[in-house]
Amino acid sequence: MPLPKRTMAEPYKIKVVEPLRMTTRDYREEKIREAGYNTFLLRSEDVYIDLLTDSGTSAMSDNQWAGMMLGDEAYAGSRNFYNLERAVREIYGFRYVVPTHQGRAAEHITSQLRIRPGQYVPMNMYFTTTREHVERAGGIFYDCIIDEAHDPANPHPFKGNVDLAKLDRLLAQVGREGIAYLSIAPCVNMAGGQPFSMANLREVAGWATRHRIPIIFDATRAVENAYFIQQREPGYKDKPVREILREMMSYGEGCTMSSKKDNLVNIGGFIATDNEEFFTRAKEMVVVFEGLHTYGGLAGRDMEAIARGIYEMVDDAYIASRVRQVEYLGDRLLEAGIPIVVPIGGHAVFVDARRFLPHIPQEEFPAQALAAALYVDSGVRAMERGIVSAGRDPKTGDHRRPKLELVRLTIPRRVYTNLHMDVVAESCIALYEERDKIRGLRMVYEPKELRFFQARFEPIVP
Ligand SMILES: *Cc1c(COP(=O)(O)O)cnc(C)c1O
Repeated sequence: MPLPKRTMAEPYKIKVVEPLRMTTRDYREEKIREAGYNTFLLRSEDVYIDLLTDSGTSAMSDNQWAGMMLGDEAYAGSRNFYNLERAVREIYGFRYVVPTHQGRAAEHITSQLRIRPGQYVPMNMYFTTTREHVERAGGIFYDCIIDEAHDPANPHPFKGNVDLAKLDRLLAQVGREGIAYLSIAPCVNMAGGQPFSMANLREVAGWATRHRIPIIFDATRAVENAYFIQQREPGYKDKPVREILREMMSYGEGCTMSSKKDNLVNIGGFIATDNEEFFTRAKEMVVVFEGLHTYGGLAGRDMEAIARGIYEMVDDAYIASRVRQVEYLGDRLLEAGIPIVVPIGGHAVFVDARRFLPHIPQEEFPAQALAAALYVDSGVRAMERGIVSAGRDPKTGDHRRPKLELVRLTIPRRVYTNLHMDVVAESCIALYEERDKIRGLRMVYEPKELRFFQARFEPIVP
């Protein structure tokens, strides 16, 4: 992927600043103990650089903030809803839009409407909330991602690709009626932010059409995926990201969306589709769980910010700068010999805790322990993406043991500078040099659902 020789600076300047708070190591040791060694339970004011998530943490533009003042807070038919609808139609290409308060609400409604109990939902790997809603609707998750995605050291440029042989195998087993839809995610989060290629998507769409099984995207990070297609896939070098995104979405019947990612806002989501019947039923259901179908749990001003964010996200200079900042951090870690998932993903750098801490067995939560140690070292907040996030198998009740045991350093959009990335890299390097001192954890409180959010731990003292 050739980068221009000259430095490419951020395509924006800073108009408002938010001071950061620095703390001492002693203070952070106390805070992480109080938080049960779970970075989700820290107070944000005790964090220096917050790389917990890129979800809802974006900096909005002056244009989006100006839009917030134009909120039409009518209960029904707000002007901002129509602006959102127009943005989705123009940029994603889907005709019908149902707003929701965030992505998981869109997943809830979609799963309830589109899955009959016992049906399978093939996904390219899984996402926590997506799979949870599939299972709550009686569906069965089926992983159809290529094997390379499960290997953090494999440099395949499109590790988000679907393995068609896996789809064929499932189809042979359960037949067309046994599959509700294909849930395809761009820049697969749990694989390390890895994109699929357009060629693969085209093949998947061909398969889906042949067997009359719809594709419903989890479109959360579709723009970042479009950027990787532009950079890596033959034939797309000179195409604007906006066109690539439109082509990607054209292969699906619709999508669920968490606007808190690509759309550059702090809250929001939607369902978008070309299927009129699905739209009609989603409108009926959104009223029960979210609000009227022209606001779906959002204020008018929030819909306006999403609408404007949708146009901003497809600016080629913006998306290049966003993904390159992630690469900048990843490259610094690679240079220092720190094991990370390669290729570097679109929204985060994933540190491979298995290789970083080979002396800690997976039952002692190495990624959880590493995220806690990083916070103590520098006040940088990351999160676990490994055995804790994977949860338990609903049938056997045992831990799911994912091959990937990762710490995610997630970069918010337009928030930090590359000097912040340097601070993060230096902290990771310091920990790597003293990695033998990091010890495993024992889980002392385990929530039943999505346990990683609220689980508590204690260090194992030898
Ligand atoms: C964040 C996310 C969701 C859920 O969206 P929320 O807005 O957090 O409810 C679904 N899928 C993926 C891939 C995500 O990253």
